[in-house]
Amino acid sequence: MSICTAPIYKLDELNNLFIEMTSKSCNQRCSGCYIDFPLSKKVKDFITIDKVKEVIEDSLTENLYCIYLTGAEPMTHPDFNSILRLCLKRCNVCICTNASFLNEKKIRFLKKVEDEGCTQIFFQLSAAHYDEKENDKVRYRGSFRQTIASLKILSRYNFESVLCIQNYYNLDNKEIYENLNSLFQMHEIKNTDIKITASYPIANEENLSKISPKTDCMRGRSVTQNGIYACPFLANDYRGRVGSSLKNYAVTVSAETDFCATCSANGDSIFAIG
Ligand code: SF4
Repeated sequence: MSICTAPIYKLDELNNLFIEMTSKSCNQRCSGCYIDFPLSKKVKDFITIDKVKEVIEDSLTENLYCIYLTGAEPMTHPDFNSILRLCLKRCNVCICTNASFLNEKKIRFLKKVEDEGCTQIFFQLSAAHYDEKENDKVRYRGSFRQTIASLKILSRYNFESVLCIQNYYNLDNKEIYENLNSLFQMHEIKNTDIKITASYPIANEENLSKISPKTDCMRGRSVTQNGIYACPFLANDYRGRVGSSLKNYAVTVSAETDFCATCSANGDSIFAIG
């Protein structure tokens, strides 16, 4: 009988801090979302400002490059702007959003917030296909148009963005790059990288025994209202819990979940953009 031995990943350095602004609040319902629903809008489902202050304070000895504001949808947090300002005082911030709140007025405001200090705001948007219809089947209706329109405005305001493609349709990477790049050209979208990740494979013995050279848990940790977790995939999942505070948390993770199989298949970080 063969025994499946999951790889153990060790944190090299805490460069990326993923703050889960809300575990359940989202204004959309994408069928391909990895988060376990039902969604809700109760106060207890949002991280508190005090918790964010505490983790920023506890991270002062770490070599942080970027704080990622994640969710469900981080921009549904009622104190989003205050938390963003707090985080920008510590380091660069990446907003991981479904784009539906990104209109001209909001983006102009975010530029002003960025200009208050010397750190940068980045954006991480998502899509599943370069074709509008195919994309919207997996994401929310109108998602493709909203994402392209947002990238266009972000580019005009000189923000840097990453469009993450979860390759749900198993398309050839070259095909995705070519089609998206011509779309970007047509819409005058600049300062936008494309990052493709494989769709989620299951955690079988073969997938899990592969060792990825780079995973999010090697350079980051995810913070939620309830504690510290290995990465955003495993936020609030007991299998990914590594501690209760940033003062004291485990640096090793046993990669044994379906999500870990996705990391093995990708061979690269999925959430961190640097
Ligand atoms: S899912 Fe999380 S814990 Fe598992 S390998 Fe990927 S980054 Fe590490």
